[in-house]
Amino acid sequence: MKKELDILLCDLDAFYASVEQLDHPELKGKPVIVGGDPAGRGVASTCSYEARKFGVRSAMPMKKALELCPQAIVVRGNMARYGEVAGQVREIFGRYTPDLEIVSIDEAYLAVKQGLGLTVAENIHRKVREELGLPISVGVSSNKLLAKVACELAKPDAVKALWMKDVPELFWPLPVRAIPGIGPKAAEKLKSLGLKTVKDLAHCPPATLRRIFGNNSANIHRFACGLDDRELEPVHDLKSISEETTFPEDIHDRQDYLPAVIRELAAGVGYRLRSSGLKARTITLKLRYSDFKTITRSKTLPDLFNSDKVIYELALDLFNKNSGRAPWRLVGVKASGFEEEEQLSLLIATDEERKEKQLLVVKDSLQQKYGSAVVVSGKQLKDFNKQK
Ligand SMILES: [Mg+2]
Repeated sequence: MKKELDILLCDLDAFYASVEQLDHPELKGKPVIVGGDPAGRGVASTCSYEARKFGVRSAMPMKKALELCPQAIVVRGNMARYGEVAGQVREIFGRYTPDLEIVSIDEAYLAVKQGLGLTVAENIHRKVREELGLPISVGVSSNKLLAKVACELAKPDAVKALWMKDVPELFWPLPVRAIPGIGPKAAEKLKSLGLKTVKDLAHCPPATLRRIFGNNSANIHRFACGLDDRELEPVHDLKSISEETTFPEDIHDRQDYLPAVIRELAAGVGYRLRSSGLKARTITLKLRYSDFKTITRSKTLPDLFNSDKVIYELALDLFNKNSGRAPWRLVGVKASGFEEEEQLSLLIATDEERKEKQLLVVKDSLQQKYGSAVVVSGKQLKDFNKQK
């Protein structure tokens, strides 16, 4: 029988921007965008809540972000520093449970004994604030779906529980996009049928759902009812690690923007490989075109690897050879063909082994450091761009 557990989704708020505000107190309370290059051509990878008020979003071309928020302070990313802080956050998670799934550098599911979820969530929220000075949002429930929804409702910097009994009041009023697997296109179609909220889906006749979602319709209906039996995927069961980005608008720029996004995704994949004690042999690039056609292309090397640089170069090479015709709406990078780097991974080790391993991860990321933060104001960037 399945163990009864409480599930937490912990998600650091505007992670890269929050770390920059922590390290550079003069940035506190200001609109901060992390990413891009100083010429303003790259991608906005994270923006502080102050910048979000202007409509700036992750994965937006930097140029657009600066049009929306010209006073933004643009900071070059420092992945080594973010990796180091993520390791410290992970150490706090590890005090409460060994049972966790790393979703990305700033996001993880934790499973704890039933009944303990809310207390653990509040402790994590407090410790991350007290010990690291960072905002984190934590959603608590009995499954991954509702924990994720609870976390979205909690943001920013708070804890929220959402149990089955709360589904009609808190989950059902949300738009259909709150359900995993429902993207903008499906949402459009649902809207044209008068189905706008999660509640509409939960009450929709099965035949209608089947027409829209085919084989996936039963899953969608279960999600709409708040039911989800997906288990956590702990590191030792991992078959692949992937990161992908759906662009806020279709992208045409193959020179600067796409490579910048691929570099970002490669860094995320590399970080997760190293912190899981894994090395990969294969990189897969996923591309979706504006007509929703999706392709995947892979390359396998004879030697195992886990460095950001190798992942980036493989993925970029795959992109250059298979990019097809612009525009693109999604790009993803996946690593697979794993071998464990060492016998004990970070997540299943004893405290001492875990600490030692974490030092290695930090050291590793420091070696890969690509420069410290360079701070320039958005205005300076704009002027710079005008001169060009
Ligand atoms: Mg986050």
